[in-house]
Amino acid sequence: MVDQEKIKEAVKLLLEGIGEDTGREGLLETPDRIARMYGEIFSGMEEDAGEHLSKVFTVDNNEMVLEKDIVFYSMCEHHMMPFYGRAHVAYIPDGRVVGLSKLARTVEVFARRLQIQERMTGQIADAIMQNLQPRGVMVVLEAEHMCMTMRGVKKPGSHTVSIAARGAFEQDANLQNRFMQMLQS
Ligand code: ZN
Repeated sequence: MVDQEKIKEAVKLLLEGIGEDTGREGLLETPDRIARMYGEIFSGMEEDAGEHLSKVFTVDNNEMVLEKDIVFYSMCEHHMMPFYGRAHVAYIPDGRVVGLSKLARTVEVFARRLQIQERMTGQIADAIMQNLQPRGVMVVLEAEHMCMTMRGVKKPGSHTVSIAARGAFEQDANLQNRFMQMLQS
């Protein structure tokens, strides 16, 4: 559990640090609000993706499964600013699949932490490999980073794309191409 009292103290200090009057009306509840909000947006720290991925179904058909456009919101660990976008998750089953909503839940488990996009991409792929033991996994994240776009380093709307390929996807360019084609269709 996040320590809400500590967060409240810290936010108060932060407000003082930027020269704000913590006693003015609009800010009175702000430390408390942020403490409660952090409880939610960092809730993934206490979650294990394995819980979502453990309920599997057996299948005969081992064709690629792709769940695309999974919307996620995360927080960059360098600036504690949001980065958000879409995740596309594909895997090739080896006799077992999970419910599609579990892929979205897995993305959420890793999004609701302080993150860097590259690590999050790999963590999603690794969690699926470990728990579902498919023939291969490929994960693509496209995200806008507020720490970049808000400060004008990059143009708003620009996206950072990260890719993680595991198992069969690692070596097989044809599989990767099929994944990319399915993304565009
Ligand atoms: Zn950042």
